[in-house]
Amino acid sequence: MKRKTLKGVFEMSVSRRDLLKATGVGVALAATGGAFNFTFAKTTDTLNLPKPSKGSPRVVIVGGGWSGSTLAKYIKKNDPNIDVVLIEKNNVFMSCPVSNLWLVDLVDLEFLIHDHLKAADKYGYHFVNAEVHDIDRKKRVVYTSLGKLHYDYLVLATGIDYDYSQWVGTDPKDIEIAMKRYPAAFKPGEEHFQLKKKIRDFEEGNFVITVPPGIDYRCIPGPYERATLIAWYFKQNNIPGKVILLDPHNDPPVKAEGFHKAWNEYVKGYIEYYPQTDIKEVDFGKKRIVTSLGDFDFTDLNLYPRCKSAPLVYKAGLVPKGDRWPALRWPWYMAQADERIFCTGDARNQPFSKSGNTANSEAHIVADLIVKLAHGKSMDYKPPRTLCYSGVDKGKAVWVDLTYKYDPKKNEFAFHNVKMDNNPTEANWKAYLEWAKAMYRDMFS
Ligand SMILES: Cc1cc2nc3c(=O)[nH]c(=O)nc-3n(C[C@H](O)[C@H](O)[C@H](O)COP(=O)(O)OP(=O)(O)OC[C@H]3O[C@@H](n4cnc5c(N)ncnc54)[C@H](O)[C@@H]3O)c2cc1C
Repeated sequence: MKRKTLKGVFEMSVSRRDLLKATGVGVALAATGGAFNFTFAKTTDTLNLPKPSKGSPRVVIVGGGWSGSTLAKYIKKNDPNIDVVLIEKNNVFMSCPVSNLWLVDLVDLEFLIHDHLKAADKYGYHFVNAEVHDIDRKKRVVYTSLGKLHYDYLVLATGIDYDYSQWVGTDPKDIEIAMKRYPAAFKPGEEHFQLKKKIRDFEEGNFVITVPPGIDYRCIPGPYERATLIAWYFKQNNIPGKVILLDPHNDPPVKAEGFHKAWNEYVKGYIEYYPQTDIKEVDFGKKRIVTSLGDFDFTDLNLYPRCKSAPLVYKAGLVPKGDRWPALRWPWYMAQADERIFCTGDARNQPFSKSGNTANSEAHIVADLIVKLAHGKSMDYKPPRTLCYSGVDKGKAVWVDLTYKYDPKKNEFAFHNVKMDNNPTEANWKAYLEWAKAMYRDMFS
């Protein structure tokens, strides 16, 4: 059995420049007029950034993922006079899309990693590598780990958080176990490294993967793609293990035919799929999941629970009591409680699928909207697009492609122009990788 170790994977795959950033050298640079030295400040001091030119608004974007990175570039492209500050807590961009392929060595880490500073330099926005801890909506100030900053418009492109209350409860010790020992790996960054190590270290037994209920979780086909590819990895490496996929849905909500084909033909014997399975409890001590279908013992577990808004969206007071997502004025992404704040990407709820392509195409629209608002203009509604590929075998993929319709009278969205290809083909696999490259180019080149 050929087993690789994770040793050095990160170091080997990330450029020296990225590592310098990761160690804090050049921790934040501004781009207008070239890079400048950043002085570390107390979090109550104002961040040392050049002032916006007279009469120009400042747009602060929190979160440099698929949504925030696209927004920063396209606001500047649409109006170079607007001052744009992108604040991101991670040193480098790591793509969640295609990461399931990386988990099982079908692409390199370089494919997923991209450079914020290069894009900031090229398009003239400021990139600040810091975490935003709080927002004062009255003063229009964000408080970051490096200092505070005033905004005219604020975009919260903060992605998702995990909601463990349904399955694990609310005891912080249990939540800690869930997060640290059995990470969902549906947020960019270190969780993915942990999961990759688990897959490589897996000797035998049941590798349980969970699908969250509903369809407001990040990347609807993501857990099915992951389960299929981990089963493929076990088969490929003769690992006497099985993926047990526990799903509360009747069937995968998208690309079901493609996944079933893979489970029946490519990874048969390495995956067991249990639909209509509601998880009641996770017993970490006994390594057991209690479900409506009976108990499942796990050797290892990839626990993907229900999703909710990132903590900052709650802190800003934008999430109504009892809800998990901010209340927005559709179709404009604007917070109901504050017309200076927008929530984009996976930080907003359905009706849009939480996907990278949706976040990217929607960010083009919101960039246009913010520039128009800044100039006192209005704009017609445009729908985003969800194009999403899933790998189901080495060199084979399936896809779904759709847009949305908005009905202003009912204030409702509906799927529009739905196309799907459930035939796992090599052409689809190539298109998957080309799609990702085109997206990375759109955000960073
Ligand atoms: C395994 C996996 C596979 C996927 N596959 C696909 C696919 O094939 N196709 C597809 O279209 N989509 C896919 N997705 C979904 C896609 O990754 C997300 O929909 C997309 O990342 C959403 O973009 P976002 O900008 O809203 O969130 P993110 O990309 O998560 O970005 C949010 C950013 O905000 C930062 N942040 C949060 N809070 C703060 C704070 N307080 N201060 C500073 N920074 C902060 C985070 O560090 C993060 O970088 C997949 C996701 C996963 C996990």
